[in-house]
Amino acid sequence: MPPTIPALPSQKIVRFAPSPNGFLHLGHAYSALLNFELAQSCGGIFLLRIEDIDTARCRPKFEAALYEDLSWLGLQWPDPVLRQSTRTPACVAALERLQSQDLIYPCFCSRSQLTAQAAGHDPDGAPLYTGTCKHMSPAQQSSEMKTRPFCLRLDMAKAARDGLTWRERDKLLAAQPELWGDVVLARKDIGTSYHLAVTVDDAAQGVTDVVRGKDLFASTHLHRLLQHLLALPTPTYHHHALLLDTRGAKLTKSQMSKPLREWRQEGATPQEIFAQIFAQTFAMTRQMRDA
Ligand code: GLU
Repeated sequence: MPPTIPALPSQKIVRFAPSPNGFLHLGHAYSALLNFELAQSCGGIFLLRIEDIDTARCRPKFEAALYEDLSWLGLQWPDPVLRQSTRTPACVAALERLQSQDLIYPCFCSRSQLTAQAAGHDPDGAPLYTGTCKHMSPAQQSSEMKTRPFCLRLDMAKAARDGLTWRERDKLLAAQPELWGDVVLARKDIGTSYHLAVTVDDAAQGVTDVVRGKDLFASTHLHRLLQHLLALPTPTYHHHALLLDTRGAKLTKSQMSKPLREWRQEGATPQEIFAQIFAQTFAMTRQMRDA
């Protein structure tokens, strides 16, 4: 079970959920600070969640560094921190629920087959699946599953529902999960996926407001459908601009992606980091005004 958070009924719960696959930079600091400030401004709870399911890319040294960097910025969060890699049983339970509704199926296609068959691309640029494995008989599926690696895909034609919406700040948006086609919900290598794990964990932790970069906006179309299928609540979303998009501000792209720890080693203070972020967001606001 995730840590129990003693929240009041109307209290906001937000989370910063980095993947420890690199050092945090100014863009991460911005996202973390937006979450932290939102919680501070209304007596809410700021959670840190470590999204470490991608064992091929995540490293303990990046996880250790992110605690240090966030503490240095002055952020605080309740312990214990939820590590997504400990949540396999919850993801398996969610997959079983989808399976019982006949909404997922195993896929045995290799990467090169997927690329060759592609019917366009999903919002992440991955090939949209044409459904080669969808029509196997149950007997064929079980015999193949005994000998070949497989992922589990959502049968989007069966799963999609009309009329699903989510609240993006003060707007109500219509979800279009079809953009993702028969998306992978359980990868061959790790048995789950970002989309499934984040949806299940946000609900388990009672997250009321998801504040994250607009690079993840398209994912919300799918997360909203998964919430519906798994009978989970839908948080309010706030997808913020990415600092790296800024032009005209004083920082270059390489300064933007420079690890916080390097700024720190060069003698920067947290206040200087806040000032850099403020300068970038100010430049973004001016660009939007002048556009
Ligand atoms: N773990 C994801 C990342 O580091 C963020 C997930 C989310 O905020 O939904 O990009």
